[in-house]
Amino acid sequence: MPNFIPVEKQTVLITGAAGYICSWIVKTFLDEGFSVRATVRDLKDFAKISHLNELKKKSNGHLKLVEADLMHEGSFDEPAKGCEILVHTASPFIVQNIKDNQKQLVIPAVEGTKNVLSAANKSDSLRRVVLTSSVAAIHGDNCESGSGQNGMFNESDWNTSSSGDYNPYQYSKTMAEKMAWKMAENANWDLVVLNPGFILGPSLSTRIDGASVDMMRSLLNGKYRLGVPDICLAFVDIRDVARAHFLVAEDRNIAGRFILVSEVGNTPMVAEILRSEYGKTHPIPKNVIPKWLVKMTGFIFGLKRDYLERNVGHSFKIDNRKSLEELGLTYRPVRDTILDHAEQLISMGLV
Ligand code: NAP
Repeated sequence: MPNFIPVEKQTVLITGAAGYICSWIVKTFLDEGFSVRATVRDLKDFAKISHLNELKKKSNGHLKLVEADLMHEGSFDEPAKGCEILVHTASPFIVQNIKDNQKQLVIPAVEGTKNVLSAANKSDSLRRVVLTSSVAAIHGDNCESGSGQNGMFNESDWNTSSSGDYNPYQYSKTMAEKMAWKMAENANWDLVVLNPGFILGPSLSTRIDGASVDMMRSLLNGKYRLGVPDICLAFVDIRDVARAHFLVAEDRNIAGRFILVSEVGNTPMVAEILRSEYGKTHPIPKNVIPKWLVKMTGFIFGLKRDYLERNVGHSFKIDNRKSLEELGLTYRPVRDTILDHAEQLISMGLV
């Protein structure tokens, strides 16, 4: 007989399990021995979910996949029953060649959050909701400054420049997070929001449709062989983001928003790190495209001139101290994140 009492792990509902980040979130909770109920859009889409079935075989925890869609009212009601924790990550992440801002981004993000949190309200057991928001809900364009010292962005800042017509992805994340805070006001559960920067790091699946994976592949496969625009990004490792979701899930003393960022850098910096390891084997860009040329050619990538004017060549500062001090999170260096991601894509033949 063991001389300890086994701790009964709680049941967590996680939305968007087949996506890039969420697969790591599912893995992290499973590794910690949780019982995980994870939603996917289509249980018959084996190409999207086969890696989750692999995780299930190797894990300490228990995984059950269930079907749910952000656009179907009531879709999350049954999955939420009996869960103590809800991690809501599902939301479209599209930044280029968007045809219908409302239909592709804003409606699924905002109405989806409403549907998911309505399910939380109907569940008697739910106590904690963790929402995967983004630094996109903190600020819109790189030319802006935050309210902290030296114009640094922090958790008190909100994106006020994005709209349904301009930076619709950033707007969708801002409006979805606002909806979540509003619904949390009179709820039986409490809300913690995570605001990650641009996430890179090895993927658990062979999917190549996500924005993060697309950027890394484009830098490795020659799409930008003539050069990259200088765009400032706040980077964070996918494994650290997944860990943060676990760290905030159970502790009732943790509250509010948390910026998750390891380092601020830019696209030429990513290219330089990649070149140091893969420069001889892959057509990694060596040049920075001048801003005037980026503005003339941006339409090819579906990027508008005013977006390029306000983002190319501008840098910003963002404060990650709350995540370090209150969550005790430690961040991997961005170089490791980038090289681990490249290694995964190359070794899986995805470049
Ligand atoms: P992703 O791989 O494209 O994942 C998006 C997920 O949302 C997918 O699982 C997708 O389902 C799901 N989804 C989209 N529309 C849906 C709908 N109508 N019903 C149900 N599920 C739907 O992108 P990601 O990078 O992992 O992003 C996941 C989350 O992290 C998003 O909330 C995003 O805003 C946030 N985030 C991402 C980054 C980043 O740099 N990647 C940074 C900060 C925050 P399918 O699997 O069926 O396609």
